[in-house]
Amino acid sequence: MELWYTENHTDNIKFSIKVNKHLYTAESEFQKVDIFESDEIGRFLTLDGLMMVNEKDEFMYHDMIVHPAFAVKPDIKRVLVIGGGDGGTVREITRYPSVEKIDMVEIDELVVKSSIEFLNYTSCKLNDPRVNLYFEDGIEFVKDKVAEYDLIIVDSTDPIGPGEGLFTRAFYNDCYKALSEDGILVNQNESPYYARDARNARRAHQKIKEIFPVSKVYEYHMPTYPSGHWMFGFASKGLDPINDLKKEEWQNIGLKTRYYNTELHVAAFALPNYVKELLEKELGENE
Ligand code: SAM
Repeated sequence: MELWYTENHTDNIKFSIKVNKHLYTAESEFQKVDIFESDEIGRFLTLDGLMMVNEKDEFMYHDMIVHPAFAVKPDIKRVLVIGGGDGGTVREITRYPSVEKIDMVEIDELVVKSSIEFLNYTSCKLNDPRVNLYFEDGIEFVKDKVAEYDLIIVDSTDPIGPGEGLFTRAFYNDCYKALSEDGILVNQNESPYYARDARNARRAHQKIKEIFPVSKVYEYHMPTYPSGHWMFGFASKGLDPINDLKKEEWQNIGLKTRYYNTELHVAAFALPNYVKELLEKELGENE
């Protein structure tokens, strides 16, 4: 008997993966947490039935959510990760000797616990002495912070459920306050392809653009996410992701990465015309 995990990328598009084992399932107050084992993509985590992370392509996501910011500001010391329960984002951050503090604020302790038990490939560095884990709402956590971080990474789920508040002006304003003068915000910026994801991508970028003097979007491949075309936002109070790229300085750190490199860094910010038009469309009254 074959067992398949199926996710609706839209009401008319399904994405299925043959699984060998359903390793874990539990329901927290926030979401349903499942972990599966498969031949094709290894072990993978889903939240409320949506793909979050898997062994085969997590390197693409975690390289691109972390390394571009460090290539612009290689001396980052204090980092805040909001979400990121599987630990992959923190794993990549711990590779930088300059980093002194990593606060990871994950609303759902069950995601961290199950990732530590089953997904060592992403959670392996959550015990790094620089990491402080907070099982709280990132929206509340960031409210009273002032100039406390050099980098804030919003590694969130989509803007539904607990993740919804991480795509609001109020939250982005609080991130602005919580960052130092040359701080950087990187946010999970959805995708330009399917209508719902494209709406969310545009709304996130337009709101961030109202608040941050520099607000750019960059793209990368994410084969197991809807359409495989996914984006992150890069925002700052002055640092530009291309003009301020410190290529040699980043290369001299000597990190070996499977996806990110400083040539691809520049190319990632060169978006297709349809994506540029989507992102630059002003928000309507009640958007
Ligand atoms: N890489 C995945 C992606 O792009 O879809 C997401 C990584 S991680 C699994 C996303 C995490 O965000 C989840 O563990 C979820 O519990 C957490 N999260 C959602 N809303 C949150 C909030 N308001 N505060 C803190 N964490 C939140």
